[in-house]
Amino acid sequence: MRIYFLNISPYLAICFIVDIISRRIREGDMRKYEFYWDLIGDISAGRPNLGNLVDLDVYRLMQFTMRDVIEQHCGTETTDEIFYEAGKLAGAQFYARHIKPVDSLDEFVSKLQKTLLDKRIGVLRLEESVLNEGRVILTMDEDLDCSGLPELDYETCVYDEGFIAALFESYTAEKWRAEEIDCWCTGARTCRFLVTQEDLAEAGADGH
Ligand SMILES: [Zn+2]
Repeated sequence: MRIYFLNISPYLAICFIVDIISRRIREGDMRKYEFYWDLIGDISAGRPNLGNLVDLDVYRLMQFTMRDVIEQHCGTETTDEIFYEAGKLAGAQFYARHIKPVDSLDEFVSKLQKTLLDKRIGVLRLEESVLNEGRVILTMDEDLDCSGLPELDYETCVYDEGFIAALFESYTAEKWRAEEIDCWCTGARTCRFLVTQEDLAEAGADGH
């Protein structure tokens, strides 16, 4: 019986691993929701009367209900990870479509400020920028996601954190991380983000 078990179990183990790998490949092949810009569609053709605008409360209703349900399924930490990652995907796509090409930090910032304003996402200001030392502090007034929300004791703009990190990653081709350090919800009446280049921040933390 023992010999039989030893003979069979490696076979079963291999079958099990092959099954997992092939299932992942199949799922990869069959993705339903991978983002590409054409998914947004031809809005002028599709909404000749209602156009490109929607009330902001409807945008927040969709985001906050989705966040509620994801949290119930996955927990708070995973929900924040999902929103950060989704923000990063949006930021990278947004940079590729609306910001690049840019030749300097000034051009990057001014183009970003103008586009965010034109699209009514928010009013971006740079408070402190030492890009070559991997540190930027910026504020976003009238932020799409949180301006006007009731006061809470935590920052809420996790999607924005990912979005901003990806903008800097796209511009510099380095790894960046954004952390919201003030939010409308914490009484600051603006959203303030500390954006740091990951390897430089780690080197600093290590004392190098
Ligand atoms: Zn905020």
